[in-house]
Amino acid sequence: MTLFAEFAGLGRRLEATSGRLEKRRLVADFLRAVEADEVGLAVAFLIGRPFPSSDPRVLGVRWLPREVASGGGPPLTLADVGAAFADVAAAAGAGSRRTRDARLTELARRASPDERDFLDRIIGGELRTGVSHGLVLEAIALAADADVAAVRRAALFLGDLAAVAALARAGGAAALSGAAPRPFVPLLPMLAEIATDFGDVLRAHGGRTALEFKYDGARVQVHREGERVGVWTRRLSDVTRSLPDIVAVTRELAGAPFILDGEVVALDAAGRPLPFQELMRRFRRVHGVEALVREMPLALHFFDCLMLDGRSLIDAPYAERWAALTRVTGGRYLAERALVGDVDAAQAFHARAVAAGHEGVMAKDLGSAYEPGGRGKRWFKLKAAETVDCVIVAADRGSGRRVGWLSNYHLAVRDGEAFADVGKTFKGLTDAQFAAMTDRLRALALEDDGYTVRVRPEVVVEVEYNEIQRSPTYRSGLALRFARIARIRDDKAPGQATTLDELRALYERQFATKGRAG
Ligand code: AMP
Repeated sequence: MTLFAEFAGLGRRLEATSGRLEKRRLVADFLRAVEADEVGLAVAFLIGRPFPSSDPRVLGVRWLPREVASGGGPPLTLADVGAAFADVAAAAGAGSRRTRDARLTELARRASPDERDFLDRIIGGELRTGVSHGLVLEAIALAADADVAAVRRAALFLGDLAAVAALARAGGAAALSGAAPRPFVPLLPMLAEIATDFGDVLRAHGGRTALEFKYDGARVQVHREGERVGVWTRRLSDVTRSLPDIVAVTRELAGAPFILDGEVVALDAAGRPLPFQELMRRFRRVHGVEALVREMPLALHFFDCLMLDGRSLIDAPYAERWAALTRVTGGRYLAERALVGDVDAAQAFHARAVAAGHEGVMAKDLGSAYEPGGRGKRWFKLKAAETVDCVIVAADRGSGRRVGWLSNYHLAVRDGEAFADVGKTFKGLTDAQFAAMTDRLRALALEDDGYTVRVRPEVVVEVEYNEIQRSPTYRSGLALRFARIARIRDDKAPGQATTLDELRALYERQFATKGRAG
């Protein structure tokens, strides 16, 4: 049994120490010294919580009763404090107030002033000893003589430092590296990097990649064990109660315990996708859920399987996880998918996704493991480019292969009678088009500083871009990211080009979609 006085003593020493390494050593020494079955409690208390973070119980009080004289009863142990907190949290219903007060009063009476101070801090949710989660994580590693990376990974799977500390204590480094996802402990979702070019994607994935439709909905992670089902969002909020239709679908599937990753899209009565804000109404609804389920059905597209038959697939290659997903679902509720080995096939699939009204595609490395919370080159997202019509207002002289041409075009949108720069591009034209454009722009030249030629704003081009960004340099305040010329629009006059107001509206609209909100 570890005395709570020792915990309070540790708290005082941590307060008196400013060095991170010294704090870490103090915490590690304490974790080594406490009884094995108290390690979890010690860690919860250290991060200022009465219960481990994965434990949904709450105390429902803010501090100990103030007017209680100290003294009386045996000294408090960590386990005594844990048991008192459990009783307080469990007290509910008639007579609960009395039970709660009695337990808290007893706790206060048995505590010394120092202990009371730390009990109050734990109850209040903050220990104020300068000990972060990261520091506790490192101390757990130090105490168990394990890698910090292994502890961090185990924390991802167990969802809780207290559980990690207990595991480290019970089984050391070996147990930590064997930690695996568990049903009803949600994992951070794996994320994707932006790509614009299928050639680059194929190179990064070794010549072959799996493309999937990129659905414009919301991420869901679905867990099942026996008849129990849990559903979490991208930010790990539990939305099980709001999505009874997804729960019902999950109950039809085979292979539990399983964990699946996917995207839900809200549909209107005619089956057309609804905007993200509408979908969020479904996620937030907790009363009258059934009515909204009928009004706004969801389409479900699974794309990953992190556990099947209770076995973790986190480290299995994507191709194997997809095979498992096919087994679980029997081929239903899957993301549309194709394996491609060349740019033409990739572009054809992308065109199909965009034509079907989706955001673009995801490209996934067939050999890659699932990296919870990771964003890297194993998963790319390639969104359909949007286009605006810009006027060329200037051009820079080319260099290297483009010497002799005006090849870097300054793009502008209409701003009243004037034009406002929003980007530059040297992409999208063929050599013949560069040569012809150079002649055309020279004929429109107004000024030439030897590098940049300013021209009369007459040539309209349709410009593809991936994103509109805020720009500190352009007076317009906006810039097109990854701009490239899609077409020369000789059918359009400069007065028909996109306006700055329209571009601002497009910029705002980007925020209405999930990519930003998440
Ligand atoms: P973004 O939010 O733009 O970073 O794109 C990543 C998000 O796209 C994910 O978090 C999912 O919510 C969503 N998504 C849609 N379809 C897929 C898919 N097939 N694979 C992975 N993520 C997808």
